[in-house]
Amino acid sequence: AVPLVVAINTSMAARNGMLVRDRIAMEQARNLDTVVFDKTGTLTEGEQGVVEIAATDDWDEGDVLTLAAAVEGDSEHMIAQAIREEAAERGLSVPDVREFEALEGRGVRATIERDATPAVIGTDAGGSDGADPSDRDGHTASVGGPNLLRHLEIDPGADLERFADAAGERGDGVVYVLCDESVVGAVALADVIRDESVEAIDALHGMGVEVAMLTGDDADVAHSVADELGIDTVFAEVLPEDKDEKIVELQDRGHLVGMVGDGVNDAPALTRSDVGIAIGSGTDVAVESADVVLVENDPRDVASLVRLSKKSYRKMQ
Ligand code: ADP
Ligand code: MG
Repeated sequence: AVPLVVAINTSMAARNGMLVRDRIAMEQARNLDTVVFDKTGTLTEGEQGVVEIAATDDWDEGDVLTLAAAVEGDSEHMIAQAIREEAAERGLSVPDVREFEALEGRGVRATIERDATPAVIGTDAGGSDGADPSDRDGHTASVGGPNLLRHLEIDPGADLERFADAAGERGDGVVYVLCDESVVGAVALADVIRDESVEAIDALHGMGVEVAMLTGDDADVAHSVADELGIDTVFAEVLPEDKDEKIVELQDRGHLVGMVGDGVNDAPALTRSDVGIAIGSGTDVAVESADVVLVENDPRDVASLVRLSKKSYRKMQ
């Protein structure tokens, strides 16, 4: 039989916009001393918009965007959606690609036909020196964050570095567009911090809970968002497969850790944390990995959860 207090507790939780999947975690929530938030889609809206495009050499903005939209054609990432939307708004004709590949936590890659638009791609890209088109299988293009360039050990050049620095200072993210291993441009994207996030973090601080951010995103962008929200600790540029390790690190230092996330890449960290909390509109995998689901998608409900747990289990004693 379900103990009465626990039953009351879960129905109270439901009234507060939470779906409790694990009652023991609900009880543990009162002892949390650290809450880790995923950034994109959790503290921010996750819906990004293209704000600026940079192009190098023979390329122009339209070409860069066309190539980026082509490579992002099969990606479900918010960045991909924003890039496709911008290309559509500008009426660009985006070619098909083949051999699409997601570079988990870094970007995407695909092969584009030799004679496809943008025309600039067929000029001298890759230094083929006017050789017979049939000697090549097409062009490999990719789109990815600063971590992709670091991984490939490619330098974006001074102009794009300046473009990225300026974007970073605004808190905007940057993805680079590559054609045959050379960087042909970059796209700056803005994400919006949710109004509720500031209150959520203040409320947790008010209860003596430390707040951290865990993201695959660039350090500049992460710190700019963290500063705005008053977040204590930032783990940035963390690859999807390493997110859960950061939770373990905190636990090893003696913390009882709650994790809040929405994405597939948050699932292992949600499972590993003492209280895993999923944003209701998040991916199925995140929801299934969580102990508590925030049905209203409101980060302030994390504080309500801790408060409710304290209230309920204090009554029991
Ligand atoms: P988060 O942890 O904030 O949810 P992700 O792990 O999804 O972020 O991605 C980390 C970074 O990898 C992004 O900020 C971006 O720079 C890059 N990236 C991932 N997927 C894509 C994509 N489809 N197109 C371009 N860049 C991408
Ligand atoms: Mg996310």
